[in-house]
Amino acid sequence: MIPVVFHSKLDDPTAWEAALRAHLPEVDFRVDGPPEGVVAALVWKPPAGFFAPFRDLKLVVNLGAGVDSLVGRDDLPPLPIARLNDPGMVALMRSYILWAVTRYARDFHLFERARRAREWRYIHPRPLASHRVTILGLGELGTPAAEALAGMGYTVTGWARSAKAIPGVRCLHGRAGLEQALAETDTLVVLLPLTPDTRGLLGARELALLPRGAKLINAGRGPVIDEPALLAALGSGQVGEATLDVFETSPLPPGHPFWGMENVFITPHLASITVPEAAAQDVAESIRRVMRGQAPLHQVDAGRGY
Ligand code: NDP
Repeated sequence: MIPVVFHSKLDDPTAWEAALRAHLPEVDFRVDGPPEGVVAALVWKPPAGFFAPFRDLKLVVNLGAGVDSLVGRDDLPPLPIARLNDPGMVALMRSYILWAVTRYARDFHLFERARRAREWRYIHPRPLASHRVTILGLGELGTPAAEALAGMGYTVTGWARSAKAIPGVRCLHGRAGLEQALAETDTLVVLLPLTPDTRGLLGARELALLPRGAKLINAGRGPVIDEPALLAALGSGQVGEATLDVFETSPLPPGHPFWGMENVFITPHLASITVPEAAAQDVAESIRRVMRGQAPLHQVDAGRGY
């Protein structure tokens, strides 16, 4: 048997057990069982001290793509961390970004308001190529979203830490690249991980580089954008509209000013989710690999933070 421990308040252990067993029939799936012999921990935001009893652990699997709640903590043993990455997760994120960008590019947000006011408001459609979209983060999720936007006809710029080449997408990197991209953006999409380098990356100065009235979509992590700066920019019209899936504090507190802003569209951190049936095969393979002394699939660079 291969003992595995599961901890998540968000994910369904029954679904995960069934999905994992399909690819790892010898799994001993424990939600509360004894820690002895457990080789892999499948976790989403485990409590402080969670790992201490698991002396035989060889692998930590983060039940999602964003590992910021794991890599920064001081109670994590020096073990390989694998993130999830499956086609279902990519497809969901792509659909969220395409919808949110298109809602702005086709003025649907204005028609929602006009409809509420029983107003027949005609706004002449503009070619999609005239709408400039910048995606910050060209990783497993950002690259397919950039490709899909380019495929639809948008003018797309991507920005990452390292230089990239993606057909149909202008790729920039570095501080100068960021500033250039921001200045030439109608809709800014944030798909960056939260790391010490990206925390507060977009502050008042960066938001001021955007053309006045630019739209912003954050499906990465809330603290990548300085929240007081964003509130001020939304209030002044420097940022015209925002679609926010992630926040500094989650769930967003009932009294938060975002709730009162008509130009802010809020979704409750579900731009993309993990589908156990799609992810389990890679998790099973990772467990097999670490038991053979090899690196798991989708290993995170803990030093880099993603
Ligand atoms: P990846 O780790 O695959 O890619 C991260 C990208 O960000 C890479 O292109 C990387 O650059 C870039 N990057 C990282 N640090 C910097 C930096 N300091 N400056 C410039 N670029 C940087 O992540 P994913 O694409 O899989 O996911 C991105 C994030 O989306 C996740 O970390 C998570 O926080 C969030 N997420 C949100 C979900 C939601 O439901 N809202 C669901 C899933 C994920 P390079 O390529 O050069 O390394």
